Amino acid sequence: MIHLKAPEEIEIMDRANRLVHTILDRLGEELAPGVVLRDLDRLAESLTKQMGGKPAFKGYGGFPASVCISVNDEVVHGIPGPRVIQPGDLVSLDFGVIVDGYYGDAARTFPVGDVDPEGVRLLTVTRASLEKGVEQVHVGSRVSDVSHAVQEYAEGQGYSVVRDYVGHGIGRALHEEPQVPNFGEPGRGPRLQEGMVLAIEPMINEGGHGVTVDEDGWTVRTADGKRSAHFEYSVAVTANGPRILGIEGA
Ligand code: MG
Repeated sequence: MIHLKAPEEIEIMDRANRLVHTILDRLGEELAPGVVLRDLDRLAESLTKQMGGKPAFKGYGGFPASVCISVNDEVVHGIPGPRVIQPGDLVSLDFGVIVDGYYGDAARTFPVGDVDPEGVRLLTVTRASLEKGVEQVHVGSRVSDVSHAVQEYAEGQGYSVVRDYVGHGIGRALHEEPQVPNFGEPGRGPRLQEGMVLAIEPMINEGGHGVTVDEDGWTVRTADGKRSAHFEYSVAVTANGPRILGIEGA
């Protein structure tokens, strides 16, 4: 069942996502060679509490940290531990919070130091593929119109789209219906209605789309060892089109 949100619920979700983006901004400023991933996680957790939110991922399905940090060939769900950031790393931060009972969820991949031109292009294309998906968020369009726009753009740039992990509805739960794949034929799936909120989150690979999961049960990485990038917005469907929560005004 898809939960439609009333305008006042959307405003709470906007506040939750504003907190998420404020902390992602801050973590992005901290990213540098020599920084330990676990320290970034601790910073995010303390900032979240100071700002009146609750980390959403910690304990979710048993995940042991507040931020999913995935580096280079890691796609999603990386556990921040003792790893030290190196020059040239691509660092994906996926972060969620709960504010007044509602979830916010967003992700960005940051370049650290001098990243090679191909790495920079991977980030640029992944972010642009998210924007192509967001452009399809209008009352009356279909979920798979979003999916198709992401895939068509990313594959057109020579990359592949991860199939095994998808975006989702979001609200009082972190993962609500509908699922929002980043691939597929257009014109399928539920019609978008005012009050739906979708977390759209393309994971784009330099090489093939195949992924594996580490023995820790969480860390997803590319099967071919090539790099991956991840950008995510929580987007409300409004009568005026898409509203990226935490970033855009009403
Ligand atoms: Mg998400």
